[in-house]
Amino acid sequence: MNEKDYYKILGVNKNTTKDDLKQAYRKLAMQYHPDRSPSDKKKEYEEKFKEISEAYAVLSNDDKKAQYDRVGSAGMGNASQEDIFRNADFSDFQDVFSGYGGGFGSVDEIFKGVFRGGMGKQRSGYETGGDTGEDLEYTLSVNLKESAFGTEKEIRFFHNAKCKVCNGTGSKDGSRTVCDKCHGRGAVQIHRRAGFITFTSAQTCPKCHGTGVIIQSPCWTCHGTGKVKEEAKVKVRVPGGVNTGDNLKMTGYGNYGADGSGDLYIKINVTDDNFFKRKGDNIYCNVKIPFTLAILGGKIEVPTLQGTASLNISEGTQPGTTLRMKDLGIHNEMRNHTGDQFVVAEIEIPKGLNEMQKKLLIEFDEEMKKSKNKFKFW
Ligand SMILES: [Zn+2]
Ligand SMILES: [Zn+2]
Repeated sequence: MNEKDYYKILGVNKNTTKDDLKQAYRKLAMQYHPDRSPSDKKKEYEEKFKEISEAYAVLSNDDKKAQYDRVGSAGMGNASQEDIFRNADFSDFQDVFSGYGGGFGSVDEIFKGVFRGGMGKQRSGYETGGDTGEDLEYTLSVNLKESAFGTEKEIRFFHNAKCKVCNGTGSKDGSRTVCDKCHGRGAVQIHRRAGFITFTSAQTCPKCHGTGVIIQSPCWTCHGTGKVKEEAKVKVRVPGGVNTGDNLKMTGYGNYGADGSGDLYIKINVTDDNFFKRKGDNIYCNVKIPFTLAILGGKIEVPTLQGTASLNISEGTQPGTTLRMKDLGIHNEMRNHTGDQFVVAEIEIPKGLNEMQKKLLIEFDEEMKKSKNKFKFW
């Protein structure tokens, strides 16, 4: 049996305080939140999320921690996932779990989603390997301003929906007989133990393709599948702070299946902006500042994501100086954090001066040469 080091998993030591433990879990839970996983790493993120949640459930509970310290995870032997998570308190992490739009609503839901019925109430379909709809992916492009403050978008995509003619049964007259090969289970169950969690997987029944039923007279509309291709129209709330590669999960918007519909993963793509560049929650831009303003100091209006704002230029500002405009960056709803805008000063040297302007500058130059501080500005 694999020995799991819960301390190592959470990156804490044995004498860690409850607060530090919470912090460690919070950080990892955000990082491996299943809604954030790239679609190709879904399994990996889910496994990691399970692992850290299991570690937290044990270490945050005095009795379980004592038992674990005494005998290690292998010694906890027969503890089921349900035992491990019983009395575990994840209420402090509600914000972490519900941070993403359209996704998991509560701690319960996220665990149900991740553990696939392993805890508490069992969900059919996953256990039988029956007719569970596939997950779908949709790439949604938003511009930088939309990503900065959040937006709502209506998307259209095709998915398998429940056939309305046969109400998803696939049968023209409603007659269905139980599959004789799998006796209606749709699959043969296989149990596999890893650590002290039992994973249940199943092989799809080849005769009924996992549906558990044989249909004598198939529905004409859906050819007995119970599903029809349909265009779906969904409003997606994109939370402020999303970045390219982020995933929003829309539970149940994937393909229909009699034993449960799949989910829709919305992959965010933030398009480049010509003026603003993003680094984390901060925004960078270059602004041209008249050379006289750079020398003398004063105020200048500069573009920000929220419209123009006044920026103080101090006397003697050098080219390339970076100036900070607090809280004018990205408002990140998931992290409850607002970034800053950083303005890199480009000093504008005027061209094509008239005689008067040249004369004044020559006088200025003469004055500078006379002055003891002649290298102060130039
Ligand atoms: Zn039908
Ligand atoms: Zn069967």
